Amino acid sequence: MSANFKAELTACFGQPVAENPTGVMQEAAFAALGLNWRYLTVEVAPSKLREAVAGARAFGLRGFNCTIPHKVAVMEYLDAIAPDAAVIGAVNTVRREGDRLIGENTDGKGFLRGVRVDAGVDPKGKRAVVLGAGGASRAITTELALAGAQNVLVVNRSVERGEAMVADLAAKTGAPIRFAVWESVYRVPGDVDLLVNATSIGLYPDVDAMPPVDLSRARSGMLVCDAVFNPPETRLLAAARQRGLPVLDGLSMLVYQGVIGFQLWTGQDPPVDVMKAALREALGA
Ligand code: NDP
Repeated sequence: MSANFKAELTACFGQPVAENPTGVMQEAAFAALGLNWRYLTVEVAPSKLREAVAGARAFGLRGFNCTIPHKVAVMEYLDAIAPDAAVIGAVNTVRREGDRLIGENTDGKGFLRGVRVDAGVDPKGKRAVVLGAGGASRAITTELALAGAQNVLVVNRSVERGEAMVADLAAKTGAPIRFAVWESVYRVPGDVDLLVNATSIGLYPDVDAMPPVDLSRARSGMLVCDAVFNPPETRLLAAARQRGLPVLDGLSMLVYQGVIGFQLWTGQDPPVDVMKAALREALGA
């Protein structure tokens, strides 16, 4: 009788990394499909990233995620970068193609898939407002632009950061991306189709914080999305619900970035519901 006791390995490299819940949903999906695969959540210091990637090659990892603070730094240790990850300027998922390691970014793609699948909205031709100009905003804004949004307005507190990001992404994508400074309360105009909170406002433990936005002029079908996933029900989403607006929580983006990573690594479609349930349980949601 022949036997195969070898597990295929995937991982997440970050620091701090202990509270990253991705492994829970990936392992639930591996188990559901009967795959002898593992997802290791590994603490890697910035000074050890080069060795960690060399280790990934030596161990034949099938792929890995990078989280804070490695999403930009990892790029110099890879063999190629996918076009959209190059525009974003950051990699959160690495896949293997033979012996080559390819950098991908599934954050913005995960967000878009959630918008399409969970909210039933096609971003093509839509007018979007993205709050924030950090890493999450960069990924979301890039993918909205590449998906053919009619325009994307980035609203950020820090002018320098917001202007620099918008100038860079507009030049790289050729898409109509504009910037507005976030002063006091931002009044969302009535012609916006999609509002995204890509700031960290509302993130645990600051769960009572609410992005200073006025939704009173929002048109009735405007989709309100939050990148914050802990807690999934943020003050912003509660305020939107109260106005009868459709909402999409940050768990959707988190799950679908993992779904896309799973597909890139295994070539198979994972059971999305199993991943969502595992994540909800892990986060006590
Ligand atoms: P960054 O630190 O890179 O960016 C944070 C952004 O939030 C900046 O634009 C910052 O503005 C803004 N901000 C923070 N506090 C305030 C405030 N009090 N008032 C106005 N603006 C504020 O963070 P990330 O982009 O990496 O992450 C943002 C959020 O997205 C986090 O909650 C993270 O958990 C979530 N996220 C979710 C993912 C998912 O899969 N659901 C994936 C990745 C991230 P300024 O430039 O002025 O400082």
